[in-house]
Amino acid sequence: MAKSLNPKCKQCRRAGEKLFLKGERCISAKCAILKRNYPPGIHGSKGSRYTTSFGAQLKEKQKAKRYYGILERQFRNYYVKTIKKKGNTAELLLQALEMRFDNVVYKLGISKSRNQSRQLINHGIFLVNGKSVNIPSYQIKAKDLITIKPQYQDLKIFQSFKEKKGEDEEIPSWISFDQKKLEAKILNRPSLNDIKSIFNPTLIVEFYSK
Ligand code: SF4
Repeated sequence: MAKSLNPKCKQCRRAGEKLFLKGERCISAKCAILKRNYPPGIHGSKGSRYTTSFGAQLKEKQKAKRYYGILERQFRNYYVKTIKKKGNTAELLLQALEMRFDNVVYKLGISKSRNQSRQLINHGIFLVNGKSVNIPSYQIKAKDLITIKPQYQDLKIFQSFKEKKGEDEEIPSWISFDQKKLEAKILNRPSLNDIKSIFNPTLIVEFYSK
């Protein structure tokens, strides 16, 4: 899968806020946002370049892309697929992003970052409804059951993942997670109210609908 090679902390500094891309470092005093909260580059400290409404829309789109670790073409595809569906486009777009397999694994607290989720998924250690799935962008659906293959359940990461959580202290309300059995059940598709989003999906829809 193609991925962004831009340094992660610079991506946060461009966004102007923490995107939690580096696991434990993000909640430590070493976080670059705490030390240099201005865009990278020699003119970075002179201020933001996002001053128009178009700039604000672009900023939200860029922030969301970096947050989920998705490149432009794939991110735009989410929008293209979403506008073909009935309903609130902003909510549908956010749902599609939240229900990526790598994001769900991250939200469970198993991995320290979405990047690490992708590595775990690529190794083929998860089952979805009893079938092996090794595609990080796989769309999880309501009522899906996510489990870990028996031969991987004793790995250290699964025994100690609770202490390694980064951004979120709690499992989202739309997921039920049995930590002893290491089984996650998706209760429903999350609504806008269920998702603690750091970006405004409506501005992203406005950006692409021009
Ligand atoms: Fe770097 Fe994480 Fe801080 Fe972002 S939140 S600047 S990735 S340490």
